[in-house]
Amino acid sequence: MAASVLPKRLSGKVAIVTASTQGIGFAIARRLGLEGASVVISSRKQENVDQAVEKLKEAGITVLGVTCHVGNADHRKNLFKSTIDRYGRLDIVVANAAVSPSIDPIISMSEAALDKLWDINVKSGILLIQEAAPHLEDGGSVIFISSVVGFNPQGSLAMYGVTKTALFGLTKALAAELAPNVRVNCVAPGFVPTRLSSAIFEHEESKAMVRSETLLDRFGSPDNMAAAVAFLVSDDASYITGEVLPVSGGMRSRL
Ligand code: NAP
Repeated sequence: MAASVLPKRLSGKVAIVTASTQGIGFAIARRLGLEGASVVISSRKQENVDQAVEKLKEAGITVLGVTCHVGNADHRKNLFKSTIDRYGRLDIVVANAAVSPSIDPIISMSEAALDKLWDINVKSGILLIQEAAPHLEDGGSVIFISSVVGFNPQGSLAMYGVTKTALFGLTKALAAELAPNVRVNCVAPGFVPTRLSSAIFEHEESKAMVRSETLLDRFGSPDNMAAAVAFLVSDDASYITGEVLPVSGGMRSRL
C-alpha cells in the first residue's frame, strides 16, 4: 500500500523493534513509523543502525537508532533507557531477533549451537519483555516474531523451528501475565527472501520446494509481515491477545 494512504493508527505511540536494520524487522519499523509511531530501531552493528536510521528519516519517520545485541544485558537496558529518555513512553515492543547457526539434526547438534539458538531466539525475548514490562503503557502491545516452521519443525530447520514453537507458548503465557493492560501476540512468517533465509533462496530446488508448500504459489515479503504486525499492535486488534497469526501464503499452520 502506498505510504500516503496508510492509516495513521499508531499516532502518538512509541515502538521498539529489535533486529530492525534490514529484512523483516526493518519493514516492521518502517510500517509502524508510516502509521504514525515514533520508532526505535536497533541491531548489533552501529554502522547498520546509522544507515537504517537515515532511510527511515528520508521516509519522514521519527526514529531513534540504538546499537543492541539482544543477547547483551547492558545493551537491552540501554535500549529501554534511551527510548524513555528520548520519548518518555513506550507502547509497542516487537521481539524480532533470531539466529539459525546450524542445520544439523537435533540429535547431533553441538551444545554451543543449542545454547545460541536458545539464548537469542527464546531467552533474549523473555529478558527483553522483562525489561519492557514496567515501561509499557496501558493499551500497549508485544509481538514475538516466530516462524511457520514452528508448527512443524523438521529437517535442516528442526531445532530453529523448536525455538519458534517455544514462542507460541511464550505468547500464551505472557499474554496471561500481562493482561489486561498489555496484549501479547505472535506473527509466524512463511518464507521471505532475506539474508537469514538466503541459503534457501540460493538453490532452485529448495526455492521450488518451499514455494510449492504455499497455497498462493509465492514467497512472502517483509512488507506482508509488517502489515500483520501493524494490525496486531493497533486498536483494530484491541480484543486480540495470546494469538499466533501465520502470514505464510497458506502453508501448514497447525501444531
Ligand atoms: P535478516 O534479514 O537476516 O535481518 C536480521 C536483522 O537482525 C539485521 O538487522 C541484523 O543486523 C539483526 N541481528 C542479527 N542478530 C542480532 C542480534 N543478536 N541482536 C540484534 N540484532 C541482530 O532476518 P529476517 O529474515 O528479516 O528475520 C527476522 C525474523 O523473522 C527472525 O526472527 C526470523 O526467525 C523470522 N523469520 C524469517 C523468515 C524468512 O524467511 N526470512 C521466516 C520466518 C521467520 P546486524 O547484523 O547489524 O545485527
